[in-house]
Amino acid sequence: MKRKKVVRMSKTEFSNLKQHRKTITLECATGCGRQVEVDPDAISGICHVCTLNMAPLIKKVDQPKPTGFSQGWKLRKVFVHGDGRVFNQGIEQPELKGTLPSTDLKALKEKRVVNKKIREERKARRESRLVRQFEKKVEARKKLKKEKEQLEN
Ligand SMILES: [Zn+2]
Repeated sequence: MKRKKVVRMSKTEFSNLKQHRKTITLECATGCGRQVEVDPDAISGICHVCTLNMAPLIKKVDQPKPTGFSQGWKLRKVFVHGDGRVFNQGIEQPELKGTLPSTDLKALKEKRVVNKKIREERKARRESRLVRQFEKKVEARKKLKKEKEQLEN
């Protein structure tokens, strides 16, 4: 086995080494009140919190501009844009432009919200029913087991 190399150092060399690693404590330059450990020749420092704040981790995503089309408008039999254009399952019908009242996007959205609620309620009901059925099954199995045991004894 190879011996580890040992570097012999005088006391002054050792203290120099220590001095080299010395840091000074400054107050954060932004004035948040936190202390920062910096190199002795540094004039100022910024703490880790303020550094993080400088570069936000989550970029704000631009909200998409309203296009005047509803979600799933291409699937609708008739969709009338606010400017009077008429679409038949996503295909524009130029000869019908301006002949129909524009589709109420707000009402569509509300309807979607209501439908979603109904769907969720149905799902919850179905799940609770399944849970009940399962519990019944488990209980029936337990009962059967008990009866069997009683018969055997
Ligand atoms: Zn700070």
